[in-house]
Amino acid sequence: MKSPKVLVISFDGGVWSNLMPIAKAGIMPNLLKLLESGKHSNLESTIPPLTPPAWTAFMTGCNPGKTGVFDFYEFQEGTYKPTLTTNKSIQVDTLWKVLSENGVRVGVIDVPINYPPPEVNGFIVSGWERPSNKKVFTHPPELGQKLIDHLGDYPICLRTFDRQGTKDVDFLNSLIEITKKVGDAALWLLETEPTDFFMVHFQTTDIIQHGFWNEIASLDFNSQDPAMQAIWNFYRCLDQYLGAIKEKVSSEGAFFLVSDHGFGPVKRRMSTNVWLQEHGYLKLKQDMGTQLTTSVKSTAIKMINKVDALAKLKNRIKRKVEEDLEQRVIVPRANFDPIDYDESRAFSSIGTVCGTVQINQLGREPNGTVPQNEVENLKNEIIEKLKNIRDPINGDLFLSGIYRKEEIFNGQALNKIPDLIIVPNPGYYLISGLSEKQLFLEPHPLSTGNHIKEGILAIDGHLSNSLSLSNPKITDIFPTILNIFGLKSLKYIDGTSLTTSKNTACKIST
Ligand SMILES: [Zn+2]
Repeated sequence: MKSPKVLVISFDGGVWSNLMPIAKAGIMPNLLKLLESGKHSNLESTIPPLTPPAWTAFMTGCNPGKTGVFDFYEFQEGTYKPTLTTNKSIQVDTLWKVLSENGVRVGVIDVPINYPPPEVNGFIVSGWERPSNKKVFTHPPELGQKLIDHLGDYPICLRTFDRQGTKDVDFLNSLIEITKKVGDAALWLLETEPTDFFMVHFQTTDIIQHGFWNEIASLDFNSQDPAMQAIWNFYRCLDQYLGAIKEKVSSEGAFFLVSDHGFGPVKRRMSTNVWLQEHGYLKLKQDMGTQLTTSVKSTAIKMINKVDALAKLKNRIKRKVEEDLEQRVIVPRANFDPIDYDESRAFSSIGTVCGTVQINQLGREPNGTVPQNEVENLKNEIIEKLKNIRDPINGDLFLSGIYRKEEIFNGQALNKIPDLIIVPNPGYYLISGLSEKQLFLEPHPLSTGNHIKEGILAIDGHLSNSLSLSNPKITDIFPTILNIFGLKSLKYIDGTSLTTSKNTACKIST
């Protein structure tokens, strides 16, 4: 069987502050071997360090201003109601498309923002956002049923959200089961479907850190607590697949271990919309007061909560829930919106980890109120006021920067990005929902850990000698892999190839 020339394993939210000590404690011996034989560094994520924009930047080498993917949700012209980001949202070519068009056979498993599954030269299994196995979730379409037949089932990560944050061992064991299924799928497809480029993604590494950040970061490897032992069993299982899958890379090739963002503790959160209300920029409809608790869904956590409520029905009517999940996730957000747009000058409807502000601009938004000649002044005013926000407990500055979108992004898709981006200091998070009543909130019980911009990169294999890891960014992987396959980087992208030698590039024979 032909071995892939490039093999990528991704741990969503992987962070060295956890993985390094876990490896050194003997729980992840294959990771330790990789660290010792290869090179590793942090991998800088996108702003915001969030799964959809970060994996899209990985797949395209481009910033969100070019990809159009900034959040779990995206703006739609002519409405205040954003829709869920999908593979169709991506406005530039993906790595799989470019490789496919150049005769490289690709195999991609579970990478986010690949639903609906795009056509490729090879195969693709779409990511965690796929709502159901009843819909086509693979390319070619028949691969999905083959996977289910071979493995008995194929996991839908969304179903774990109903128990995210619960401390029971069963939940942790279910994450181990998902990890095994995805790992087994990878090993089976590596055996049966020859590829030149192969990538498998593990989403469970993100889910476990959201729910069990404090437990994992305690690094208490000797705990007798069953949940703690299940956590370390999860990492043992992950490491076994890391070892077994990594072995399949061609002896002439390159192996990459990557994450889309890192993880860290949550100190406190702040509601952008409550801040906008308190400063008179946003008004709610008077008669909507009592309905606010079920309000607009605008963050991942809220999406999770919604799924949570639905999933409680799971044991009773499993099939019904599957349909509900699909409805709720693919047709997202509540049916009503409590914002009185006729009276509001700014609002925050998308944004997770980082905050956002959208000016309610006359002629752009459906019920715009701010004339164009007042927009820049209003932005300045909001930026100046936000700058001084401090943590109410310790007095530390909450934000590291507030940026106009054009200051940090560029590209033809800037209209998909909110006007102002609010970047918090480490440990602080912004939320854009409308159900909160208070400006500051303690860590969400379902998410004691959250994303940071420092992800992971480790490389190994013959070709990795020609790669240099000097402050790599997530956008750098795309041109690096193109170069490895003898293809030139594309002019419009933002990433820079990590290759140091022209000899790295060698034509593949397909
Ligand atoms: Zn992620």
